[in-house]
Amino acid sequence: MEKSSCPECKTEGKLVKKFTVIRVVKKDLKESIGEDDYYLCLDPKCKVGYFSNSTGKTVYRSELKKPLWYKDDANPVIACYCTMITEEDIIRTIIETNLKTMRHIMFHLKGRLGDTCKYKNPTGHCCNEVFNSMIVKGLRVKQNRKILDELNDNLREEVSRYFSIQEDITFVDTDKLDQEIKTKQPNSTCGCSPSKSSSGSCC
Ligand SMILES: [Zn+2]
Repeated sequence: MEKSSCPECKTEGKLVKKFTVIRVVKKDLKESIGEDDYYLCLDPKCKVGYFSNSTGKTVYRSELKKPLWYKDDANPVIACYCTMITEEDIIRTIIETNLKTMRHIMFHLKGRLGDTCKYKNPTGHCCNEVFNSMIVKGLRVKQNRKILDELNDNLREEVSRYFSIQEDITFVDTDKLDQEIKTKQPNSTCGCSPSKSSSGSCC
């Protein structure tokens, strides 16, 4: 079997260091993780979380402390595992405020930026791509609320899930927010692209 193919769904997994796996599994599993690195199963429907074909070990998604955001039973759908910001939080913030960037939304909601991705994110990397895709979804929902009559069924359903949220009820001064970030976390690179950083992991 391919080293990187999930033993159950056969899809290609993503390499994750043992270092990360050992921190995201439930307590009673820590001892059994062993010395090898694992692969993360990326199939939303598959019950597998991590696997190592070299040792034959499998960690099921139900054996993790926090749900994998992209699995079909994820509840809540977590975006940032450092600050525990969810997709729902992001979309709500986009609708309620003028904020549009990961750093601004994160700092506005939690008063800090994530900096423990290596330990807390199930991939071991910064969540920036996922976070940003949820921002795009939030902006789409906010825009589509204005043109309900023109939407197809799927988009209408997406909008309807967030319809109770009031629009633009809070204005946040982003210059002030930038200043606060600079003061509190001057060296934070949270939100950078992991592929652009030398270690492959930005935070
Ligand atoms: Zn799988």
